[in-house]
Amino acid sequence: MKRRDVIKSLTALPLAGGIIGSVIPQAVKAAPTTPKRDFFKELGVTPVINAGVTMTFLSGSLMLPEVLEAINSTAHDFANMYELQDKVGAKIAEMLHVEAAMVTSGAACAMVLGTAATITGTNAEKIKQLPNLPGPRPEVIMQKTHRYLFDQAVSTTGAKIIEVEGVPEMENAVNTNTVMALFFNAAEKSSITHQEFLIIAQKHKIPTFLDAAADVPPVENLFKFQKMGFDLVTFSGGKMMHGPQSAGLLFGRKDLITAARLNHSPHEAPIGRPMKVNKEEMFGMYAALKSYLERDHKKEWEEWLQRAKRIGAQLETLYSVKTETYISPGPANAFPSLNVTWNTSKIKIKPEAVLTALKNGTPSIVANSDGDKLNIGVVLLRPDQVDVVARRVKEILQQAV
Ligand SMILES: *Cc1c(COP(=O)(O)O)cnc(C)c1O
Repeated sequence: MKRRDVIKSLTALPLAGGIIGSVIPQAVKAAPTTPKRDFFKELGVTPVINAGVTMTFLSGSLMLPEVLEAINSTAHDFANMYELQDKVGAKIAEMLHVEAAMVTSGAACAMVLGTAATITGTNAEKIKQLPNLPGPRPEVIMQKTHRYLFDQAVSTTGAKIIEVEGVPEMENAVNTNTVMALFFNAAEKSSITHQEFLIIAQKHKIPTFLDAAADVPPVENLFKFQKMGFDLVTFSGGKMMHGPQSAGLLFGRKDLITAARLNHSPHEAPIGRPMKVNKEEMFGMYAALKSYLERDHKKEWEEWLQRAKRIGAQLETLYSVKTETYISPGPANAFPSLNVTWNTSKIKIKPEAVLTALKNGTPSIVANSDGDKLNIGVVLLRPDQVDVVARRVKEILQQAV
């Protein structure tokens, strides 16, 4: 028998995992010998197919096998959390060509810790007092058009957000209470460019923070903003990097990362204590980043285009249905998806109603719509879900004829 045939025949047997462990590949070895415990079923939670983008309410992204491996294989020993954050931070900093880095509980936590760092530095008394520092409130400068829900993470530290529009206003806003300037990378409009923003902040020695939480792909973005000169940068771990959902990266200037860490767990008192990251997630975040940097991004992109094409071809077999691969310009969620339109006098259903039917069907599928377009995301589908999504959308449209 050829090796491939051996493996095939072995998989047919009810194996006791360890016995022939060395001969068989990982996937087979991991095959359960007894029916797997189904926690979704046990708790009555509906598994969802995500034909959209990474969304926190939908549990972010699916962790990569290597992330799960990092989590599982490190769960059996204790580690000193200071040492772990030291070592994982040093490694991540080396990978991203920055002075220092740390794993946070998501990008929102990175924003709290980054802001806290610029307020307290390494001053133990201030760290203890935050967010109730005596005296005038620390100020964080932001462009008016950059205000967003996540800047609550900045205010959490007690800092006041000062809105500016255009270069002269930013210049004028700087005063002795200014601790930081925050740039929301995916803002739709900016009256101050990245470069202008950096020039003003650097002139006044104001630390700069860039929120790029959802801004990979492209992978180059993981290097771009520190090179530009931002002092602190954050990315979510649980979006397209496929790390643990509750992990994120904060990286940049060493003195600021040191201060951010003093404001974080495992220290007992600081503002970041409730934003603990566990040991396994630190290893997991490291594994996710490593895997992301080493991935063949061109091949992955090609696979996404193929998926869109495959779903499109199945839907276009219906009369009047037109599909088009759409590539979001980014910087957030800059990847392909599929736009689907049809003649609503022939197929009498609106995109919104298709979404509802998808969500309420079995399996439950979450997609998006934009006016008269149904938008089907492909990047978060498991390979086996591509045809399932195509079939369900087709069924729903067909029923509306
Ligand atoms: C998702 C997101 C965040 C929050 O990131 P978490 O990792 O979920 O904490 C912050 N800012 C932007 C722009 C985001 O897209």
